[in-house]
This record gives sequence, C-alpha cells and structure tokens, in this order.
Amino acid sequence: LQRYGQVYQTLLNEKWRKDVNKLIDFGCSEFGLFIYIKRLINLNELIFIDIDEDLLLDNLYKLRPLTVEYLKRRDNPLNINVFCGSVSNPDPQLLNTDAVVAIELIEHLYPDVLEAFPYNIFGYIQPKLVIITTPNADFNVVFNNKNMKFRHYDHKFEWSRQQFEDWAYNIVTRFPEYDVSFDGIAYGPSGTEKYGCCSQMALFVKKEENLELSKINLCKCDKNNVCQSNNDC
Ligand code: SAM
Repeated sequence: LQRYGQVYQTLLNEKWRKDVNKLIDFGCSEFGLFIYIKRLINLNELIFIDIDEDLLLDNLYKLRPLTVEYLKRRDNPLNINVFCGSVSNPDPQLLNTDAVVAIELIEHLYPDVLEAFPYNIFGYIQPKLVIITTPNADFNVVFNNKNMKFRHYDHKFEWSRQQFEDWAYNIVTRFPEYDVSFDGIAYGPSGTEKYGCCSQMALFVKKEENLELSKINLCKCDKNNVCQSNNDC
C-alpha cells in the first residue's frame, strides 16, 4: 500500500500532473495500483500489461466502473486497455505515453528480458516519466530470517541500494535525455534506518520536460500581462 501511495503522490507532483494523460503500468499483476491512479483527473488512457494472462483475466472485474462512478462521471473519460505481453516487447500502441510505472517488477525478469526492458521504455516508448520500484536487499536483515534467500520464490535477484543506483545510472548514461533520482518506500522499525527502506524507487524524468518548466519561468508576458510565448503561465 505504501508503494502504491508513493507512486500516486509522485504522479501528483504539480510539475507534471497535468501532462500525465496516458500511463502504462507494466507488471500490473492484480491491478492494485488502479484504485489510486484512477483519481488522476487528467488521465484519459491507461494501459495495463502483464505476462500472466490468467492473472489478468481473473482480476479484470476490478476495472469495471463502480456504481458511484456512473452517478458521478469523470469530466475526462478514462479509457483502459489490458494487454498480455512482456515489458520487453515494443508495440506501437504504447507510443505517446506520458508515464510508465513498474512496481516490484524488475526482480522478476530473466537476464535477457531485464536487458531489453530499458530499450523498450527509454529507447522506444520514451515517456516523460518512469517510476521503477524494487525490493531493497540491504533491508532484508530486518526480516531476521536466515533461511530467506529472496523475499519471493520468483525473484531472480534482489539489489542493494548501491546495485539499483548503478543499474539506473547506467540507463541514464545510455539514454542521456533522462535524469534519475532515488527514494525509499516504507521505513522499518526504529534502529533499522541504516538499512534504508523496505523498497526503493527510481524516478526518471525526461530532460525536455525540465526544459519546458524552465521555459515557463522565462515566460514573455507583454505589458498587459498577456503571454506572448505560448506558455501556460
Ligand atoms: N506491480 C504489481 C503491484 O504493484 O501490485 C506487482 C508486481 S508482481 C510482484 C510481478 C508481476 O510481473 C507479476 O504479475 C508477473 O506476472 C509480472 N511479470 C513477470 N515477468 C514479466 C514480463 N516479462 N512482462 C510483463 N510482466 C511480467
């Protein structure tokens, strides 16, 4: 729940929330993020993608509108598509996406898929924002379970904060149009601060968007306060 909450809060950031109209949730699993992100009023296209077709079909009912949503309709209708497929598959339907989210997905990927994943997202889709979360392996000592290799049987790896940052910095070296920053999700009990949070998050922001923001600051308003630079100022 804290992961969903933090992803939602990140999408709500006033720097870009109006620009997030089309969003992809990769590795969406049981659509847990949906009840949070459907509150984004500017969102009008939502794509859920997971490789597990049975899981998608079993949970599809969760995407139906609630009765109250028929009574009080969104000003901006929300179109939802669910695709069964892999994060490594480029598809023209994914183009023109503003934000990509991948919550606790990368640690489930085999090495060849993990390698292809950044090319699909940063090279092909090229969204304005990318939010990726993964378990923080530094935190695993807090679970105090000597028999635990990984937190889940399907995890192919779990990375320390340093390993995750190295991976993300390597991405921005290959795709220099992006900046990356990091955050933790969910602190442990007092005394465990040195291990960081339970999950870790990387936020990639396309530099063009930073430029757009600085353009707004450099707005050219005439003496009647009418903007001459096509900026929403
Ligand atoms: N994002 C979900 C959430 O926040 O509730 C949880 C993700 S779950 C831990 C990992 C998901 O990744 C599983 O549903 C699995 O089927 C999916 N997955 C694994 N490999 C994938 C791939 N190559 N492409 C898309 N989804 C994949």
